[in-house]
Amino acid sequence: MSIRAIIVGVGSAISDRNYGSSAAIQTANGLVLIDCPDSVLRALRDASAKCGIPLDPMSITDILVTHLHGDHVNGLEILGWKRWIAHQSGRGAKPTIHAVESVARRLWERLAPAMDQNGHAQLSDYFGLNILVEGVPTSIAGLQVETRLAEHLIPCSGFRISRGGATLGWSGDTRFSPSHIDWLSSADVIVHETSESRVHTPISCLNALAPELRRKMRLIHMEDNFDQAVTDIVPLTEGEVLDVVASTR
Ligand SMILES: [Zn+2]
Repeated sequence: MSIRAIIVGVGSAISDRNYGSSAAIQTANGLVLIDCPDSVLRALRDASAKCGIPLDPMSITDILVTHLHGDHVNGLEILGWKRWIAHQSGRGAKPTIHAVESVARRLWERLAPAMDQNGHAQLSDYFGLNILVEGVPTSIAGLQVETRLAEHLIPCSGFRISRGGATLGWSGDTRFSPSHIDWLSSADVIVHETSESRVHTPISCLNALAPELRRKMRLIHMEDNFDQAVTDIVPLTEGEVLDVVASTR
């Protein structure tokens, strides 16, 4: 086993049933979070209760951010405050946010009205910030992370996350994009979004992919009325432990 990701949320933006799409990857030093949805503290606790693996928000060292839609980043405020309060009393280092420049540029603009402490605080009081660049692999907590811009309503990127020869592909929010899927296709497991919208990927598009791609694909970002019977691609579930191992090629 080379990469273990615990699935934290699988819902679409307007789900009233599931948390926003997110996962926590175990590393030697703690957890690397992929996106940070609404009610993230409860989402982590609920996922932990389902799988029996501790998901302590204090152990999050890094957060990979795909884009700034609320179902992917609304949890940054409360996680930032929780970690800031602990940091003030000498407990815990600040987590680092990793995102492409077009996402990172407006991150503080989004958080500041709730976090700037009347002009006395800035992003660096809560989080480190690292800019991801397409084509430049970055080492994050022992993981090699590559990014690629996706096609969405606002700037967004997907990830290839590798360790020990195993790679987890993560689409991010994207309209159906054969070039994006082609980039993800070298991964051993591809977590791909699906929602019936022109800025997302309808399941019919994924159903038309080659069988060898569908077999290693798992679904996330489903609407509440998603019908599993329409596809042979297996949806992820909250609290699921996704072990990604290197396939023998
Ligand atoms: Zn989105």
